[in-house]
Amino acid sequence: MIIVTKAHISADALDRIIEHVESTGMRAHVSRGEHRTIVGCIGEDAKLSELALTQLEGVERVIPVLKPYKLASRDFSAGSTAIRFGDPADTVIGGRDIVVIAGPCSVEGRDMLHETARAVQSAGARMLRGGAYKPRSSPYAFQGMGEAGLELLAEVRAETGMPIVTEVMDPRQVELVASYADVLQIGARNMQNFALLTEVGKVQRPVLLKRGLSATITELLMAAEYIMAQGNGDVMLCERGIRTYETATRNTMDIAAIPVLKRETHLPVIVDPSHAGGRADLVAPLAMAAVAAGCDGLIIEVHPEPTKALSDGEQSLLPSAFAAMMQQIHAVALAVGRSVATDAGLVTRSVS
Ligand code: PEP
Ligand code: MN
Repeated sequence: MIIVTKAHISADALDRIIEHVESTGMRAHVSRGEHRTIVGCIGEDAKLSELALTQLEGVERVIPVLKPYKLASRDFSAGSTAIRFGDPADTVIGGRDIVVIAGPCSVEGRDMLHETARAVQSAGARMLRGGAYKPRSSPYAFQGMGEAGLELLAEVRAETGMPIVTEVMDPRQVELVASYADVLQIGARNMQNFALLTEVGKVQRPVLLKRGLSATITELLMAAEYIMAQGNGDVMLCERGIRTYETATRNTMDIAAIPVLKRETHLPVIVDPSHAGGRADLVAPLAMAAVAAGCDGLIIEVHPEPTKALSDGEQSLLPSAFAAMMQQIHAVALAVGRSVATDAGLVTRSVS
């Protein structure tokens, strides 16, 4: 059930609505917008009488919710969620500007991380990606540098000021990874690792939640709900391609997922064209398509020497190709009334 309050409701009347909801054993989730306040009721709906609610002072409307996700639902929020990063916190994901996160698939060493970070930053990326713990299909493949990789990421953040996005794979590592990372990435293979989702829900770190290889959009939203139900509302959803019968691409990028998610949820939507296409030459076209379809951010794999990469070299862009892609997505962003957030104005910002 969602309670939409009247404009300018008094604090007392709002308190009484919350008390009433909580007296039935449900949880009241308050979302304050510029024009209206919404009280979302979480728990067993049957215990609340719609009629009794409409009679409370300050209630304008009561809307039953049939969707399984609540906190993630657009209906539960008075506005879109925007998440701030950096020190000063001037990078915003979920606003008008599209934010680009870029970096290697895996952290492989100091020099390559440093070189990649500098290159992507000067081309306009605002955040640095890099896995220290890698989910690999083969147990014999490079598994990541572990904590040493996290330390390198923190070092490069100190030098460049770029917030870092890195994957956490195990509930036992959440505290450690969160002590280094600005964003905790949950990989596609872990989208329904409910113990991990619960654990990242308990820390105050934004989460980049990647869609599972064969997950529906509803399942993705339910995974976000797991995190949010623990109190962490800063979740970004990531479309990274799904498994279909097509073999020409590594995965199939579900473009329609972008407008569907924007309709269904207030959470920011990020697109990963690197893992979707699986080939460097597909990254820029897919990135442009994602921007045109309304994403809030992109996450892109870049490597100074893709042929020598320890993971995902075939889909990693050279820094020069990344810089060219930034120009292309800027043009598309302008065409759809958005702009690309950049640091030093290296990609000319739009004004409208
Ligand atoms: C990655 O970002 O390198 C990664 C492993 O992504 P995904 O979980 O989407 O496969
Ligand atoms: Mn990768």
